[in-house]
Amino acid sequence: TLAGKTAVITGSTSGIGLAYAKALAAEGANIVINGFGAADAIEAERAGIESTYDVKCIYHGADMTKPAEIADMIGTAVTSFGSVDVLINNAGIQHVEAIENFPIEKWDAIIAINLSSAFHSIRAALPHMKRTGWGRIINTASAHALVASPFKVAYVAAKHGIAGLTKTVALETAEDKITVNAICPGYVWTPLVEKQIPDTMQARNMTEEQVKKDVLLAAQPTKEFVTVDQVAAIAVFLCSDAAASITGSLLPVDGGWTAQ
Ligand code: NAD
Repeated sequence: TLAGKTAVITGSTSGIGLAYAKALAAEGANIVINGFGAADAIEAERAGIESTYDVKCIYHGADMTKPAEIADMIGTAVTSFGSVDVLINNAGIQHVEAIENFPIEKWDAIIAINLSSAFHSIRAALPHMKRTGWGRIINTASAHALVASPFKVAYVAAKHGIAGLTKTVALETAEDKITVNAICPGYVWTPLVEKQIPDTMQARNMTEEQVKKDVLLAAQPTKEFVTVDQVAAIAVFLCSDAAASITGSLLPVDGGWTAQ
């Protein structure tokens, strides 16, 4: 149980992040949700988490490209709830295009949101975990932290970077009762995947059905999308005492993708 603990989850207004927020709230943690979206939809999710799970939930709108806003999000969690016990770095975006045409500003945004934001949030949160003597840092990496695919140069580079960040911080915190791990999902059906289908159709000259079958699920031997709840269940386990010796790990949840 995570009763009395506080979890900050970046990019949790949608998809995998929202599933983490609900799963940790179900364990009793107070929650800070973050991410973009319509204000009324975000407020409905926030209030829903409070009423469904009988915990406190606040929203912080920090933009993960802005280090000062990330620090303010961690500071707000501490002033609201006393500390940050669980930090899940999950915000992420994708862009699918050949490197010669890959927009420079997309490279910069993906490196900032998918990689550097985790550095900034961990840097701000760690002193609080050390103060309380317990912590769990979980980074949503990807199968693309372990293997590459064409046309995703910034994403694959950022996710491989997250793998290195995860291992390094795990070593720096190994004696502090803090674990640092990365979850590496294969294809999960979320808005992020849905949105890349048109660009992939264009880049590979394929129909939507061909993209789903021959590009997305072609890599995944189970031929099934991973679910957000399956990913969130791994995070809950990593927060348990049973997982205290798992640190610096990259945990695939990919239907066999990276076994190939
Ligand atoms: P999603 O698009 O549903 O959610 C992304 C979240 O990040 C949203 O809440 C969005 O508002 C937020 N976000 C985007 N830019 C932001 C910014 N600048 N500042 C703050 N928040 C921002 O996507 P998802 O599939 O749930 O992805 C979540 C994570 O899982 C990402 O890191 C993604 O790379 C990773 N992942 C996804 C898959 C998949 O197949 N869906 C597979 C492996 C890894």
